[in-house]
Amino acid sequence: MTLSHGRPYLAIPGPSVMPDRVLNAMHRAAPNIYEGALVDMVAGLVPDLKAVARTKGHAAIYIANGHGAWEAAASNTVRPGDKVLVLSTGRFATGWSEVFARLGARMQVIDFGKQSPIDLARAETALAADTGHEIKAVVAVHIDTSTSVKNDVPGLRAVLDKLGHPALLMIDCIASLAVDPFEMDAWGVDVMVAASQKGLMTPPGLGFVFFNDKAAARQPETASFYWDWTPRAKPDFFYQYFGGTAPTHHLFALREALDMIAEEGGIEAVWARHEKLARAAWAAFEAWGQGGPLEMNIADPALRSHAVTALRLDGDNGTRLRRWVEEKAGLTLGIGLGMAEPGSPEADRFFRMGHMGHINAHMLMGALGVIESGFEALGIPYGPGALNAAAKVIAEA
Ligand SMILES: *Cc1c(COP(=O)(O)O)cnc(C)c1O
Repeated sequence: MTLSHGRPYLAIPGPSVMPDRVLNAMHRAAPNIYEGALVDMVAGLVPDLKAVARTKGHAAIYIANGHGAWEAAASNTVRPGDKVLVLSTGRFATGWSEVFARLGARMQVIDFGKQSPIDLARAETALAADTGHEIKAVVAVHIDTSTSVKNDVPGLRAVLDKLGHPALLMIDCIASLAVDPFEMDAWGVDVMVAASQKGLMTPPGLGFVFFNDKAAARQPETASFYWDWTPRAKPDFFYQYFGGTAPTHHLFALREALDMIAEEGGIEAVWARHEKLARAAWAAFEAWGQGGPLEMNIADPALRSHAVTALRLDGDNGTRLRRWVEEKAGLTLGIGLGMAEPGSPEADRFFRMGHMGHINAHMLMGALGVIESGFEALGIPYGPGALNAAAKVIAEA
């Protein structure tokens, strides 16, 4: 029998769980895109979005997913032949580097593996060797959603400042915006990319590029007409925000999501909720791992994202567990990404649990409860006390 009939929980980790309020905000007749409610609303939306990104810089909005935001950011910052240093800690840094490479950049990629953050000393050595300042951009992912590692962004800025290196610091916050603390201006980030469907709880389809004056001043003449961030950030006419027709319904959805963030108590409250829920999940994973094969990919809690946790089991138990909790209990966990060759037997060990966006304590505890049911049903050994350990973290709230 299946016990999955009820409200599903998509924990893959993104798209994340979407609030009914956000979905309902989209349920309306097509608005006028020349004047009226939509046009008025967007004027207030952009400052609120920048506040979540913790920047007083510029924001460009694209009708795109995260890959589109990647390409927009790359198109506005590098020319063919420019050198780009990518500090890779998982599949997503690799993905962004492929975008720069296709635009003709000369790539220098340092790979820190799948279980470690950026080693700042190695980044410093690479940048110090670049005495001619050929490297035009240093590219990293704040939270790599494949490995669930968190990188030290202010540390990277400190390295660039110490060396007096003028490269732009470009950060992917697609998984971390409105989840893990991030301070664009205070941390000295020049360009940041994000998307609607993770911490911002809005359907996939909006990509964001935030940039400061330093990055704006370096825009190459090769920036393509469509990706050009200037008219989007400083439009003379409403259509220029979006390079054409506005993503009308997504904008109402995003407005609602930003209102929900404000009602929760602002972005700090949202960060605090995600931290607490992540700690509860880790307490359970830790306890299960004491008596069985479950392991978190990132050993040090200080280096783990609050958005998603990458996990491993043995044999094909990662896939078996995912299938069981989805079919029997209505919980969809994420596949392992970038950890093993897709389709290989090794890939069946890995899975991820998203704990970002519109989730609360009862959803998290329910998800953990049915994962334990899955272990029971599938005969996967696990240590005792996991749900109690998670309950204790929640009880401290
Ligand atoms: C999800 C994600 C992406 C890719 O976003 P798409 O919308 O799938 O293009 C890129 N980077 C990170 C860190 C992500 O989590």
